[in-house]
Amino acid sequence: MALHLKTVNVRHHKLTAEKETVIMPYSCNLVIPMLQHIGRPCVPTVKVGDSVLKGQIIGEATEFMSAPIHASTSGKVVSVRDMLCPSGVYTPHIEIAPDKEDKSIEPLSFKIDSLSDLVDATRQLGMVGLGGAGFPTSIKLNPKNIDEVDTLIVNATECEPFITSDYREMLENAEDIKEGIELLKKLMNIKNAYIGIEDNKPKAIEIMKKLSGDIFEVKTLKSRYPQGAEKVIIYHLTGRKVLEGQLPADVGVVVINVTSLGSLVRGLKTGLPLTHKRVTVSGDCVKEPQNVYAPIGTPIDKIIEFCGGVVNEPEKLIMGGPMMGVTMCHGSMPIIKNTNAVLLLSKKLADTPEPTACIRCSKCVSACPFNLMPTVFEHAYHDGDLEALEKHKVMLCMECGCCSFVCPAKRPLVQTNRLAKAALREKK
Ligand code: SF4
Ligand code: SF4
Repeated sequence: MALHLKTVNVRHHKLTAEKETVIMPYSCNLVIPMLQHIGRPCVPTVKVGDSVLKGQIIGEATEFMSAPIHASTSGKVVSVRDMLCPSGVYTPHIEIAPDKEDKSIEPLSFKIDSLSDLVDATRQLGMVGLGGAGFPTSIKLNPKNIDEVDTLIVNATECEPFITSDYREMLENAEDIKEGIELLKKLMNIKNAYIGIEDNKPKAIEIMKKLSGDIFEVKTLKSRYPQGAEKVIIYHLTGRKVLEGQLPADVGVVVINVTSLGSLVRGLKTGLPLTHKRVTVSGDCVKEPQNVYAPIGTPIDKIIEFCGGVVNEPEKLIMGGPMMGVTMCHGSMPIIKNTNAVLLLSKKLADTPEPTACIRCSKCVSACPFNLMPTVFEHAYHDGDLEALEKHKVMLCMECGCCSFVCPAKRPLVQTNRLAKAALREKK
């Protein structure tokens, strides 16, 4: 399949870009899901009544495609129960009542002399892709064909409207990013390193250019959506095409999100696993839009409360960006490792008109970066035709939302694609 790598223009709405990240204190019980990554859920290692320390493993990664989960603060386990995750599956959640002392485990000690040391430490720290995908970082850093990888791409595009958490990472932790690039280049024996930043972030471009030296190159990309999609950024920075069934390493590239890299370096320095996440809280219904550094497991409505509450009842509450995020029906869901935003949008911004009949304009096909056919998926899904879904490769859909965005009939195409993919997964 040829890649066309089309992108669309979206409004930026980066309301929180120039606001420094604010640390959220522990104010409530934390509810920590055992699935915060692509792959298999973790197995709880604690039970009700147990005391836990910050950084202690509470979910063990028993499978290869997984990453351990740690307590975000010290306290007591008050429940272990199955609940619905943002990804739409039921999985165990561990609820911790903080003791307000925030006592940590003894820091893990790492001696990083080789790539396998780094991979091992990365897994112990519970690192996953923090830019949205949640792919376990230890697997990403250890491709089978490592000898053929010659290029590292740090993905700092942050192309979704509203979200500024990666931008703040560059402004607030630029040195960590530089150290991370140096470390990966050395241990993975990689020749070229690029950081890709969209041209609507001149301050970040300037800061990273000052630090780059001969370690990495800053590449400015057009502010278009979905510039940050892995296949799209690889093509735009290297001209290499990741084809169907291939991984980035198959074209000699490893891509890592900028906040994932910064967090990994901080984890290696402190010896403390991933317990917090910077989340952009934004939209026109929240009182104080800002970036909040919150304990993983904090319910969304507590984070909104921390941001001053709402000025108007939102029409839509979204976990993630407006293009790829998941609409929540209530605010009790907790943030997880890869939550990068919580958006509260009014009717005007939520853009939720009633869908009308498809007029066969094919704009959705033209907008798809992978030239997929969302209309065919829609018909096949509604007809229960799993064979057609498979034949037309619905699993290649990265759920970027470009098709829904351009559709004049406002068909819920990306939502249907998600359901279609889930139906196929269930069949297997
Ligand atoms: S959501 Fe899927 S089908 Fe729609 S444009 Fe993106 S990749 Fe293509
Ligand atoms: S863009 Fe919308 S109206 Fe046009 S063909 Fe696709 S689904 Fe139909």
